[in-house]
Amino acid sequence: MQVPLLDLKAQYATIKDEILAAVSEVLESQRCIGGPKVAELEEKIAAVSECKFAVGASSGTDAIMNSLMSLDIRPDDEIITTPFTFISTVGCIARLGAKIVFADIDPKTYNIDPGGVKGAVTEKTKAIMPVHLFGQMADMDPIMEVAAEYNLAVIEDAAQSISSTYKGRKAGSIGTVGCFSFFPSKNLGGIGDGGMIVTNDEELYNRLFIMRNHGSKPKYHHRCVGGNFRLDPIQAAALLVKLPHLDEWSAKRRGNAAYYDKKFAGTVAGTPYISPDCVTIYNQYVICVPRRDEVVAHLKANDIGCEIYYPVPMHLQECFSYLGYREGDFPEAEKAAKEVMAIPVYPELTDKMKDCVVEAILSFLGQ
Ligand SMILES: *Cc1c(COP(=O)(O)O)cnc(C)c1O
Repeated sequence: MQVPLLDLKAQYATIKDEILAAVSEVLESQRCIGGPKVAELEEKIAAVSECKFAVGASSGTDAIMNSLMSLDIRPDDEIITTPFTFISTVGCIARLGAKIVFADIDPKTYNIDPGGVKGAVTEKTKAIMPVHLFGQMADMDPIMEVAAEYNLAVIEDAAQSISSTYKGRKAGSIGTVGCFSFFPSKNLGGIGDGGMIVTNDEELYNRLFIMRNHGSKPKYHHRCVGGNFRLDPIQAAALLVKLPHLDEWSAKRRGNAAYYDKKFAGTVAGTPYISPDCVTIYNQYVICVPRRDEVVAHLKANDIGCEIYYPVPMHLQECFSYLGYREGDFPEAEKAAKEVMAIPVYPELTDKMKDCVVEAILSFLGQ
């Protein structure tokens, strides 16, 4: 049986008519930049995230970029973040000439370890950027304590975790800003690139708003050098159709995860640890297995989708060799990079498909 890692066609089939109508509405209006759909989505994402303000972005990466620029991050400023993430998180810091400072991860959650964050603070530190990996939020209370003690901004990279919670608080609502991605494989995915920033800080909101449109206010008068970080109204229209389904889709992912948890219990396959403080949205269901690379090859040979997030931690990437980190510097991130793999968890999976995934993994491992 073929089981893809993600099947966007299955989801599209359930909302096709609404998406086509919403996209058509934008096309008929010929409001091709900005407009009411973008404003409506901003309002709704702010509400979902329990934040006062939201600013659309052209991608999750640009949401992070706009956030760092609006927080006035400059060359030589230091930002503490995790080495176990997607390139966007750290790439934006590097693009501004600021210094990336890593702190290792908690081996249970794969999220940044707050103890390491505190130890990495220097007088040049300006911000902390936790990443809420795989759908589960980082341990925010101790991170916010460090931020308060040293007067640091906190940028939540919530690209994989929209609407997940930590102690009942929504992703993006605890830090100074929260950044979301609407990349099609995220729980709330557009029909192309898109992103959003949320904040409760009105002054920062005003800067984010201006920065996304070349720093202009009024038009052709530039207070600062910004960028073209605008969310496309066609994406906003499609996302407005999908947003009402987000909770139901995430609940189905949790159902699939619970099913896997049961099937893998008592085997060598380590299942995700979810903190009692968190409700995850399982953007990915990530297991930890012996002979990981062989398991991945076996699944792929049998048409079962899987992926390694992430095979090379950021401190060992060629593009960051100038930072001078070496193997052994962040052992937990390095260990995770060697042992973890994601298996299909998307909402439309059937029990038969899940059984097929479990069977392929356990039989290969002789369980
Ligand atoms: C997807 C993702 C991003 C970037 O989002 P894009 O929309 O692809 O630019 C940033 N950080 C993390 C952790 C992500 O998973």
